[in-house]
Amino acid sequence: MGCGLAYHLAHEGWTDVVLLEKAELTSGSTWHAAGQITHSTSSFGLGKCVDYNIGLYAGGLEAETGQVVTWHGCGSFRLAYTEDEMDWLRHTLSVGRALGFNIELVDREQVAALHPFYNLDGVIGALHTPDDGHVDPSNVTMAMATGARQLGVNIQRRCRAINITPNNSQSNNGEWVVETERGTIICEHVVNAGGTYARQMGEWSGLQLPMTSMTHHYFVTEPVPEFADLERELPVIRDDQKVSGYIRMEQKRGLIGIYEKANPNTVWEDHCPWEAENELFDPDYDRVMPWLEESLNRMPIFADLGI
Ligand SMILES: Cc1cc2nc3c(=O)[nH]c(=O)nc-3n(C[C@H](O)[C@H](O)[C@H](O)COP(=O)(O)OP(=O)(O)OC[C@H]3O[C@@H](n4cnc5c(N)ncnc54)[C@H](O)[C@@H]3O)c2cc1C
Repeated sequence: MGCGLAYHLAHEGWTDVVLLEKAELTSGSTWHAAGQITHSTSSFGLGKCVDYNIGLYAGGLEAETGQVVTWHGCGSFRLAYTEDEMDWLRHTLSVGRALGFNIELVDREQVAALHPFYNLDGVIGALHTPDDGHVDPSNVTMAMATGARQLGVNIQRRCRAINITPNNSQSNNGEWVVETERGTIICEHVVNAGGTYARQMGEWSGLQLPMTSMTHHYFVTEPVPEFADLERELPVIRDDQKVSGYIRMEQKRGLIGIYEKANPNTVWEDHCPWEAENELFDPDYDRVMPWLEESLNRMPIFADLGI
């Protein structure tokens, strides 16, 4: 978020920008993200944003900055098992069409033709968004940072903001005082891009941001023999009903991501520790097991592989 914002502000001509990072860029949530992005969204605002970003990742950003972003344009399917889910896909289709996306409703046979390994029992239709893909989130962040720096943005790593307050020394001038570990910055605008830390940073200036941190698991399998000779990457599958998440290739391995529908887990409810960086939480297989088992039922070629 921080690098993306700095990059885009600079492109809008706002080059007098300082980005503070308490550790290293990407060391919050971003380094570990699975990096998927899809046109299959039923929101006009988000849809426009997603379409712009796919274009940026698939082309312009790498060319502009010289930093590889590792775009995998494999496309994706969102599956439906019930008429209610089909209604939602039709709504998403109408939004996508209105926005000019490459998007279509397909039947089970069309999914099987592009993804022969997925068990489609019970599937009655799917939304196909062929221009989707996934990206290396760390590379994208570094590319945005490079682009921002090229336009004059000042990025300070290992420099934590420790307080943000209105500048009361000049009455009502709208400025802010940002205290950092290495000095104070007076500025006209502050953007809180602290990710999971955003709530406690908001409290400095009296804001109560209604957010909490959730853990999210994805699993990467051992190399999949059936993938060894594939000449193209399989589309990402989004299967809300059975997997409650996504399944895709990760190089020649399988990747299964689960948003568990029962007992979701919050962490750091009171306070995110400032010293945390590149944090990984202990796996909790029991919590996600119902969906993990169903994932292996849906992708039987993963069933005998280690994680
Ligand atoms: C396992 C997993 C898989 C995911 N998969 C996907 C996916 O496929 N697609 C998708 O779109 N999203 C995915 N996400 C979500 C995505 O990772 C996050 O939405 C995104 O990375 C958030 O970015 P951010 O910049 O807001 O936060 P962060 O990446 O956490 O960045 C916040 C930064 O602020 C810094 N910071 C905090 N406080 C201060 C301070 N006081 N001073 C200075 N610096 C500070 C932190 O060090 C950190 O680097 C996934 C997330 C996880 C955990």
